[in-house]
Amino acid sequence: MAESERELKEKLRQFFAAMPHEIPLVLFAEPGRNDEFAQGARQFVRALREVTDKVSLREFTLQHELAKKWNITHSPTLVLVPETFTIHWLGAPVGYEGQTFMEALNLLGYRDPGLSKPAARLLEKLDSSREIKVFVSPGCPYCPQQAVNAIRAAVQRPDLVSVQIIDIQANPDLADQFDAYSVPQVFANGKLIGMGAQTEEIFMASLSTLEPQRVFIPEEDAEKIECDLVIVGGGPAGLTAGIYAARSGLQAVVVEKGVLGGQVALTPMVENYPGFTQIGGKTLVDIMVSHALKYVKIFPGEEVVDIRPGEVFTVTTSRRRFLCRAVLLATGASYKHLNVPGEERLAGRGISYCSTCDGPLFKEKKVVMVGGGDSAVTEALHLNNIGVQVTIVHRRDRLRAQDRLLKALQDAGIPVIFNTEVEEILGSSQVEGVRLKNNLTGKSSTLDLDGVFIAVGYAPAVVLADKIGIELTKDGYIKKDQHHRTSIPGIYSAGDVEGGYKQIVTAAGQGSEAALAIFEDLMNPYWKK
Ligand code: NAP
Repeated sequence: MAESERELKEKLRQFFAAMPHEIPLVLFAEPGRNDEFAQGARQFVRALREVTDKVSLREFTLQHELAKKWNITHSPTLVLVPETFTIHWLGAPVGYEGQTFMEALNLLGYRDPGLSKPAARLLEKLDSSREIKVFVSPGCPYCPQQAVNAIRAAVQRPDLVSVQIIDIQANPDLADQFDAYSVPQVFANGKLIGMGAQTEEIFMASLSTLEPQRVFIPEEDAEKIECDLVIVGGGPAGLTAGIYAARSGLQAVVVEKGVLGGQVALTPMVENYPGFTQIGGKTLVDIMVSHALKYVKIFPGEEVVDIRPGEVFTVTTSRRRFLCRAVLLATGASYKHLNVPGEERLAGRGISYCSTCDGPLFKEKKVVMVGGGDSAVTEALHLNNIGVQVTIVHRRDRLRAQDRLLKALQDAGIPVIFNTEVEEILGSSQVEGVRLKNNLTGKSSTLDLDGVFIAVGYAPAVVLADKIGIELTKDGYIKKDQHHRTSIPGIYSAGDVEGGYKQIVTAAGQGSEAALAIFEDLMNPYWKK
């Protein structure tokens, strides 16, 4: 056995040994139905049983009386701690779902939902039942956050909350039934309460009201943490800044509302980060996060809602307040929309901005990828690799992606429709086609298809910066000087939110520069000169 495997097994042994409770699991699998997923689930649990007795597994077919009693209809379904909770896992815990599954075992092994006070309070007030369905896929980095939110709710209120985690690949019929053509999507009592990742508090507020909520105002008595620097954003810029700040002697924290790693976590393959000839975006993020964790505390799933400058800065998040001396905004950028008719209406119904998340739903189906940059080409290659029939639609006469990517595109034989814009996305309850317009001839035509993937670039995430009055450039990025200082003394920026080259390596470089500048400024504040 390799050294790393031995170490991993030892860590897992200790992970389970510390748990006070047993975790009984029941697998329902019907031979001939989704056999490969059933085998995946079985193998996952068996591997755990090699390191712990705390996890036990019983297996039945769907004909068993328990299947009827617990209303199990899909194979495979894993039922977690059935005597106490109602948590059903439809599919196999692989990819990102493996991460969620381990977190679920952690919560169950301690019988502790680990919720923030405001989120727990929302659940305590719940007075009627909630049946939650979370649609997930193995390649979706947003999914663990939503699935774990749901499982926390079920652990906190086993009397009222039941959860199904539904893998869309294993259960396309359920995805069809709920028109869930992007992940994660969360339904409670049949109503859509969340699309994309939500912070814990927003999730519980949406669960409680049975409507997607957008804001959550934390209570005044939220926990208070003092430190030198709060870094807003856990992408390459924020994580690198954390490492550099801590190594300079600053006490720094990283707060991330969504997915650690930012856009990189969604990139199928990275080939230009020095040291790695080829590495999956998520794998690179995992390496960066574990590196950063050696230096800083990371607060994931927590949104910064306000920053009050002063001698001491108050940074209010959805869960607590940080009192600090400086703030670094490394909030990155979020994907742009096409802003054409049909896009908003059919969101999550065949329109996707994340090929690694939603690609599996479109296997052997016909889709277009809109865009002409590195993202559109990288993602089209990924879709083609997993068996999706993809055509690129680009508004100009040439793609602007790197040569190596263009060569790969040509080798893969992926068609490109040039000089063409999407005028409208068509379909009643899900995407059925697009109306295209040729820019040269002005002629419109329609194309029948099952999905539209959009990769038309990113817009800087400046809502927070704007709210607190930080000056922006005319293109909407944060305005900063060569030390990454913004217009408000003590607030800095780094990464994609500053504009310029949007590369992982440049974001990391800007993060390190900003952290070093912050260290120097805190030693010798320029605003006091
Ligand atoms: P991008 O480089 O800004 O390209 C956006 C593409 O979408 C352009 O081709 C643009 O067309 C098109 N577009 C923009 N708005 C549109 C609209 N409303 N309708 C139709 N088409 C529209 O964005 P990206 O590809 O997401 O890349 C962002 C950054 O990340 C870049 O710096 C890129 O190099 C980097 N990245 C790198 C890699 C890699 O190195 N492997 C992978 C992914 C991303 P025009 O060409 O006409 O402007």
